[in-house]
Amino acid sequence: MDDCIFCRIAAGKAAARLVFTDDDMVAFHDVNPQAPAHVLVIPRRHVASLSAARPGDRELLGALLLGCARVAAELGLDAGYRVVTNTGPAAGQSVAHLHFHVLGRRALGWPPG
Ligand code: 5GP
Ligand code: ZN
Repeated sequence: MDDCIFCRIAAGKAAARLVFTDDDMVAFHDVNPQAPAHVLVIPRRHVASLSAARPGDRELLGALLLGCARVAAELGLDAGYRVVTNTGPAAGQSVAHLHFHVLGRRALGWPPG
């Protein structure tokens, strides 16, 4: 999808500061970080949100969560980190391509805003 910024990043058509990539996913630093460590983990394939995921995406979803843990390990987020996926307008989803935020290196309040 050429009109999707995250598809463009996954295809190497738009620049991003990469953490790692593999056959299924791309992990890159958020352009507008909300914490000292703020990385996005996205599937290469366009999936609009968690709500658009299907039973056939089960393995992909597991791989993406393991990708989030890999980000935390590679960035040394030993004190803890948070994984978030905003889904839909009320949750503040602004990019309609599934992504997990990995946030760390500061205290993260609860409940979230
Ligand atoms: P959402 O608001 O959908 O949960 O998260 C989208 C995130 O993508 C935001 O944190 C935003 O800063 C980030 N973002 C949007 N466009 C770009 C981009 O072109 N490059 C990067 N690296 N991050 C982006
Ligand atoms: Zn996309």
